[in-house]
Amino acid sequence: MSVPLHFQTIAELAPQLASGRLSSIELTQAVIARTKAVEARVRAFNSYDETDAIDQAAASDARRAAGQSRGPLDGIPLGLKDVIAVDGQPLTASSKMLANFVSPYDATVTQKLKDAGAVLWGRLNCDEFAMGSSTENSAFGPTHNPWDLARTPGGSSGGSAAALSAGAAIATLGSDTGGSIRQPAALCSLVGLKPTYGLISRYGLIAYASSLDQIGPFARSTEDAAILLGAIAGHDSRDSTSFQTEIPDYRAELKTRRGPWKLGIPREYFGEGLDPEVGAAVEKAIAFYRAQGCEIREVSLPHTRYCLDTYYIIATAEASSNLARFDGIRYGHRSKDGKDVLDVYQKSRAEGFGDEVKRRIILGTYVLSSGYYDAYYLRAQKVRTLIRQDFLNAYREVDALITPTSPIPAFKLGEKSADPLTMYLCDIYTIGVNLAGLPALSLPCGFTKSGLPIGLQLIGQPFREADLLATAHAYEQAHDWHRRTPNL
Ligand code: GLN
Repeated sequence: MSVPLHFQTIAELAPQLASGRLSSIELTQAVIARTKAVEARVRAFNSYDETDAIDQAAASDARRAAGQSRGPLDGIPLGLKDVIAVDGQPLTASSKMLANFVSPYDATVTQKLKDAGAVLWGRLNCDEFAMGSSTENSAFGPTHNPWDLARTPGGSSGGSAAALSAGAAIATLGSDTGGSIRQPAALCSLVGLKPTYGLISRYGLIAYASSLDQIGPFARSTEDAAILLGAIAGHDSRDSTSFQTEIPDYRAELKTRRGPWKLGIPREYFGEGLDPEVGAAVEKAIAFYRAQGCEIREVSLPHTRYCLDTYYIIATAEASSNLARFDGIRYGHRSKDGKDVLDVYQKSRAEGFGDEVKRRIILGTYVLSSGYYDAYYLRAQKVRTLIRQDFLNAYREVDALITPTSPIPAFKLGEKSADPLTMYLCDIYTIGVNLAGLPALSLPCGFTKSGLPIGLQLIGQPFREADLLATAHAYEQAHDWHRRTPNL
């Protein structure tokens, strides 16, 4: 049986569009129809604009007819996490604070996707201001995992993962501050890539923790991830942290770069708390690489046990500063009953932010306050350097690291929401990468007995995304986990 359009990859659809066998309007209509069929159950979207999507598809078809196609993304419907600005469309960060905000400009990644001809279809649900691991912190309600609707798709980019795995987009973008692309990719059986800090412009991304945030793709294959990465990467004068570096042809390199690679297994990532079925699937993947002739070596990242503490000091400190602008005057929801300016600030923030965001602002304000700055924030910055050094030391021996992405498969909605600490533990294998600024991706590597997806994480060296994608591609070609689709 042929694969329905809404479950095909960019690499499969692009030649059909190019040959004229398929139009972007047909494809976009198929994705819209699929979205309408599943959205009441999955709830991945905060908003979509059908007319606008069809207009973009028509423009793509017209370009193609005129011989002016812009390449493989031209005419492909993509979804964006609702923290990435699209000119003239709502931008909410899944917060009541921005419930009525319409973006007056495009993020750089949005502009780049438009330049590549993509059809921008819908803004996807997430944890409020990207703070969370389950998409339950959204002011608009949780997103459901298409593989089991009673469970979370992960977070914070849960809508980006759920929409793609449900067939409501052909690929999506998310953002990853501590795991928010990789963890939902693992929980929904997708490829999710968190690029090196500085590879992608953050201009037009609603900031959570600016020294950690990166935008990246969710895709159905490593090839699709390579296509998207190539489209959005590159220096941008509007983001001073974006790096001047040559952008390789990631897609072409996928096919030319060959192993064997030296892969490191960080012993600290296989300890207590790892679900046995997840551990077994990752071990099998390691055995696959070994059988391919890769040298597998155990390595140590000794400061791993400080990652969670360090992350929750640095991320909350930066969040408290970034979110100060949402005061009801400069930005965001304004309370109707403020008596004076201070009262407006207080009431607007009390009404506009949800509990988790408030918790983080309070924590972050505390660790930055005088007297505690040295004890917490400054010390966390020093530990961060040690964490990065652990990775760089490991890279003297190996090319990349291989670990589970998430210690557990998708958990039930509501299961962890009462206890922030157990929720924070979902990120133990992903946050070190953000603290160190490294690229990493998650790719499907199996299912539990009860049918829940399992993800494998590959962690690479700075700006060596091409190697990372090629390593993942070698596994993907020998397995078909990524071809499975949920029964919705
Ligand atoms: N779960 C982590 C947090 O809540 C990571 C979120 C993210 O990467 N945006 O901070």
